[in-house]
Amino acid sequence: KKKIAIMTSGGDSPGMNGVVRACVRMAIHMGCDAYCVYEGYEGLVQGGDLIRKMEWHDVRGWLSEGGTLIGTARCMAFYERPGRLAAAKNMILNGIDAIIICGGDGSLTGADRFRAEWPSLLDELVSKGEFKPEQIESFKHLNIVGLVGSIDNDLSGTDATIGCYSALARICYAVDLIEATASSHSRAFVVEVMGRHCGWLALMAGVATGADFVFIPEKPSEHNWREEMYRIVQEHRKLGKRKTIVIIAEGALDRQGKKITPTMVKDLLADKNGLGLDTRITTLGHVQRGGTAVAYDRMLATLQGVEAVKAVLEATPETKTCFIAITENKIIRKPLMEAVQDTKQVSSAIERQDFEEAMGLRDAEFSE
Ligand code: ATP
Repeated sequence: KKKIAIMTSGGDSPGMNGVVRACVRMAIHMGCDAYCVYEGYEGLVQGGDLIRKMEWHDVRGWLSEGGTLIGTARCMAFYERPGRLAAAKNMILNGIDAIIICGGDGSLTGADRFRAEWPSLLDELVSKGEFKPEQIESFKHLNIVGLVGSIDNDLSGTDATIGCYSALARICYAVDLIEATASSHSRAFVVEVMGRHCGWLALMAGVATGADFVFIPEKPSEHNWREEMYRIVQEHRKLGKRKTIVIIAEGALDRQGKKITPTMVKDLLADKNGLGLDTRITTLGHVQRGGTAVAYDRMLATLQGVEAVKAVLEATPETKTCFIAITENKIIRKPLMEAVQDTKQVSSAIERQDFEEAMGLRDAEFSE
């Protein structure tokens, strides 16, 4: 019987449990044994009871659970070859040569590296006397499939990552709550949302809540963002608006590549010689990650989980490591490392302050 393992890695996101449920059940449905690796790569490196066989009923009710019930962790050991060697040994001990990983670009990069190294890891295990050549005969190829779990929607090549719509819904809900009090007191609120390299959450939350102004990393505001924001907020106030909402991504930058902080924005809105608004800062923080997944993320988790198991079963040694994307509402397989490289290009363009390139790449992504 083929044995397929499922793992969640990197930052948690709503919908990861839906992924695990779908993969476990689809694997069983296809006549395979399903395993869960607990605590991300840490579980692979340590083995033991962190690698557990799962039955159909073990994942009952998981669609409506937030976070990841099999745990996730950052694992330093997996960055080093000895860690990956231990992981390979634990997989062989459990009879596993296929693994589905749900995580961000870091986790998926680690997975691709592991797959590329697999033959040499096996050779090393044999030369160290851990296994006899005949024991590894049927483990010659490691099969890896990625699923993108992230609240940031920050992987190129897919329209949505699992969890991003849940986080967006949470932000909209929070802004609605804030708006009621803002409007009552005629206040201004600066709402900080997650997104260090990717402004998708801030931008879409701005659209979905009708915010007055949005700051994102990819497209810093005009050269003089202070003047621009001042003018727009003042215009909105003149039109009779009793509330002001400014949404700022964690990684917001100005044209010189300097960080724009919520305090800088607040000071400007509150300046007695200018707008003079009673201004508060709300940092949403981890509430954006918490809670159950919205319907869209549950659907994505389930459809992509099913596709991931199919991809594992249909893979050949020649198949490139793939991830499961959603593009124009279709669940499709795509080469993993191309998407990871495109993603890195955007981050590095932002770091180099080449905002035109960053925006161009993002635009290309959206119209892909
Ligand atoms: P998030 O989007 O939430 O940051 P991520 O998957 O990108 O998620 P990382 O912290 O980058 O999060 O990676 C998670 C884990 O994946 C790391 O702790 C490490 O164990 C493994 N990993 C990441 N990059 C590599 C790599 N280049 N080589 C080996 N392992 C890696």
